[in-house]
Amino acid sequence: MKHLWIIGLLFLTLPLSALTAEENKMLDKVELFYKSVGMNDKAAWLAKQRQLKKISFEKFTGDEVSTTAITDSSDKTIRINSNYAKSFTYRNYVDLGLTLGHEKVHQDQSSLAVIAARCKQFGGYGNKDEQEGWAEGIKIGRDVVMKLRKQLANAKSSREKIILGKRLEQAAGSWQTLLNDWNVQKKEYGEFSSQQFQDADGMFIDVDDMLKESKQALKMAKDYVVPANSMVSSYPGKYRGKALGGAVGSFNFDVRSDYSVVGSVSGTHKMGSFKGTLDGGVNVDGLISGQVWGTIQTKYGVEKFAGSWSGRLTKTGAQGKWSAGAEGVYPSGSWVVNKL
Ligand SMILES: [Zn+2]
Repeated sequence: MKHLWIIGLLFLTLPLSALTAEENKMLDKVELFYKSVGMNDKAAWLAKQRQLKKISFEKFTGDEVSTTAITDSSDKTIRINSNYAKSFTYRNYVDLGLTLGHEKVHQDQSSLAVIAARCKQFGGYGNKDEQEGWAEGIKIGRDVVMKLRKQLANAKSSREKIILGKRLEQAAGSWQTLLNDWNVQKKEYGEFSSQQFQDADGMFIDVDDMLKESKQALKMAKDYVVPANSMVSSYPGKYRGKALGGAVGSFNFDVRSDYSVVGSVSGTHKMGSFKGTLDGGVNVDGLISGQVWGTIQTKYGVEKFAGSWSGRLTKTGAQGKWSAGAEGVYPSGSWVVNKL
């Protein structure tokens, strides 16, 4: 895989082109990403840069083809590789979120200092300005991963666990790539000081410690997503049981592989005997809801009914309630089924 973390610096001031709908959508996503991990200051900074027209997307060529973004050292505009406006994946939002944090550091550096730093770099003495940018990207990556770990540990439903687990996997992957890329780039830019990074307890940590953390985060993501997924994939099947607590009879349905549900209900009720059809669906948290319709044979003749049913899948089957219309006239009650 080609890594896209090498950040260049342009000395030419070119006019920025207006953003396309896709490019605006991508920046909206990055703003939402920042907010979702509690980085509201970064979301506000990005919104401000867009308002000031300091950000554009550009097709990079030549040496810059694998660059993620470039900050112009004189007018402080940021140009993002237009390849990044093409694919709306969480991984891209994280990659851009970390890169823009790096570029923000360059925005705050004076153009003279940037030139001085480059001269030192060419002399083989490292590059402090680049170190600052990379350190910021790495720090944001760690903060994102830690925040997602916390969100995942507190997730209540299978749906949340799957979504957050997949986000953590993407974010930890992005951070790990950045750390590995730094291990290549440091040959040019120079090693970080041993006091560059601290954990939440104030202990100093280095790039190797963080690489370990990124691996732990990837494992945690897998530990959550796999059981949550396997629970969901165990839903389809045949469920057979009874209607009770009001109308009495049989209650049966099948959950198909696409989580749609079809079934039937039949039995007796104080108004007569009834027969109905069920349809509906199950969500990833195992909640069922759907419609029921059918006919009831009363002493006055055959009447139609229509209503709803709902319930929850359990370890061994499912249970819930149903109602075919006004209580006292139409059948209603609870239901319980076992998975065959
Ligand atoms: Zn840089």
